[in-house]
Amino acid sequence: MSLPDRLAWPNRFASLGPEFFTELPAQGLPEPHWVAHSPVCAALLGWPAGWTAQPDALAVFAGNATWPGMRPLASAYSGHQFGVWAGQLGDGRALWLGEVDTPHGPQELQLKGGGLTPYSRRGDGRAVLRSSIREFLCSEAMAALGVPTTRALCITGSRLPVMRETVETAAIVTRVAPSFLRFGHFEHFAHHGRPDALRALAEWFIAHHAPDCADAPEPAVALLRKVALQTADLMAHWQAVGFCHGVMNTDNMSLLGLTLDYGPFGFMDGFDPMHVCNHSDDRGRYAYARQPSVAFWNLHALAQALLPLLDGEPEAAGERLLDAVEAYRERFAQQMLGRLRAKLGLEGEQAGDQALADDFLKLMAASRADFTQSWRRLSRALADPEPLRDLFIDRAALDAWLARWHARVTPGAEARMRAVNPAVVLRNHLAEGAIRAAQQGDFGEIERLRDVLARPFDEPLLPSDAALPPDWAATLEVSCSS
Ligand code: AMP
Ligand code: MG
Repeated sequence: MSLPDRLAWPNRFASLGPEFFTELPAQGLPEPHWVAHSPVCAALLGWPAGWTAQPDALAVFAGNATWPGMRPLASAYSGHQFGVWAGQLGDGRALWLGEVDTPHGPQELQLKGGGLTPYSRRGDGRAVLRSSIREFLCSEAMAALGVPTTRALCITGSRLPVMRETVETAAIVTRVAPSFLRFGHFEHFAHHGRPDALRALAEWFIAHHAPDCADAPEPAVALLRKVALQTADLMAHWQAVGFCHGVMNTDNMSLLGLTLDYGPFGFMDGFDPMHVCNHSDDRGRYAYARQPSVAFWNLHALAQALLPLLDGEPEAAGERLLDAVEAYRERFAQQMLGRLRAKLGLEGEQAGDQALADDFLKLMAASRADFTQSWRRLSRALADPEPLRDLFIDRAALDAWLARWHARVTPGAEARMRAVNPAVVLRNHLAEGAIRAAQQGDFGEIERLRDVLARPFDEPLLPSDAALPPDWAATLEVSCSS
């Protein structure tokens, strides 16, 4: 039996009703071709290795056909962008195809770049090859790092021209996640004064994605607490690997605590706590060091949206929601410290651990030392501190810190540290190399990088994949345009 015949496509979200989405076919890519696919993501779906050779697979993932049971739809959401209420946004270029039943539970498949929808506003409904490659590589790289994220199954491309700062070509990236619902889905119905729809959405989400909240005295409060805790975990993950999202608007915040909507993201090279990866973010609202507090702000926007679901006096109800959001702080602090301890190779918990970690980060910042390499070289520093010292300007200060660390660290640290401090992350210049080759029709570098990034804790075969960025990387600018 062929893959499409084997698959049933439940569309649980479609059961919610038409005010939540619009059903419509994709505007497919003309004369499409394969650009890339992820065998690891396909395996997650339980799909065989050669699935791209299935009849119609290219047509389906280029938006030109559907397999039986698929029901493309675009959902409605709103959100706060850069701290300001932005009104209705919605899936302007994403189409939900339905879910695949997998050994890991149902997974939604979504085309990104499948053409105009009722929510496209001034956009063209398209995604360009450049940003699709970045999303594809980073989704799979984050998963390999153990960071919660939406996944990427494949990219299809076309010669169809798309206007951005320059003329580029169109692509579609297929994303996979248990749910693509965002904080903004709840904000949408709260803002439009639709408590009935808000309640239906909350009940649906809890039934399918947060069943442990269903029996709580106040399910909406339990849900908010759950989202707060998952978001805290996600922020600790991001901070620990030096990942900057770039556009932490509430419409880009996953209700499952997944990294969602890869745009002008970046892994830091030289460590600067105020690093801003999004060239369009001129005030630095989404700077690296601000991400945890922005997430907390976003959770307050979600709390506000959930308020109409609570019974009783609004002020007291608001207090109960704020209390649920408050859980974020302690969880983030605890998760962050746990990750820093692991990165430092520490076992057990001692009072001075936070200061030890903070002081290393301060030294890194003072030297603009490479984030990924500093931690990786620290993993080796018990045996040989010289490569680490090379990254720092004030070596006496580093040596003093190393002495404190030596006194605290326990045997076997190197192996433990190498398992949590990656050698390879998707630095901008690595992605750029794959993009430039792909724009010339050579997709080999995407595949090569995909495989290197699937094993981020191994030393790569090519030392340049792990090395400090070349000089030209400093001039790369990543904007919102995608
Ligand atoms: P983003 O900044 O990518 O998270 O997108 C914010 C909003 O703009 C969402 O509603 C997107 O669906 C929409 N959007 C972004 N790019 C496009 C595009 N090229 N065409 C239509 N809608 C878009
Ligand atoms: Mg978005």
